[in-house]
Amino acid sequence: MNQHRGTYCRCTTVQNYDYDEAASKLKCFRRWLENNISRLPHQKIGGSVAFCDCELALIQAMSTVLPDGVLTEDVPEESPDSKAALPNLMTIRPSGARRRSKAVS
Ligand SMILES: [Zn+2]
Repeated sequence: MNQHRGTYCRCTTVQNYDYDEAASKLKCFRRWLENNISRLPHQKIGGSVAFCDCELALIQAMSTVLPDGVLTEDVPEESPDSKAALPNLMTIRPSGARRRSKAVS
């Protein structure tokens, strides 16, 4: 149940939001967060609940509704390291450069 934070949290510094701040960031009701806290990613620090940006982003993703047909492509073509996708120049051979050696008689 307790997943390691490293699986989703990319925070380099601690920046947490309480219920009110999280609700205001998500534009949802604080009460909704409180009522659903057991199934929402959050931190429990002492008796308090806190959220970081990543947890708010997860809640946002969990709450996103995408009707059918909104996205036509399921898999976004993303190639951050497109260097590997460059054509391999070594395999390209010049064509039509064949030379006939003349036999001198
Ligand atoms: Zn985080």
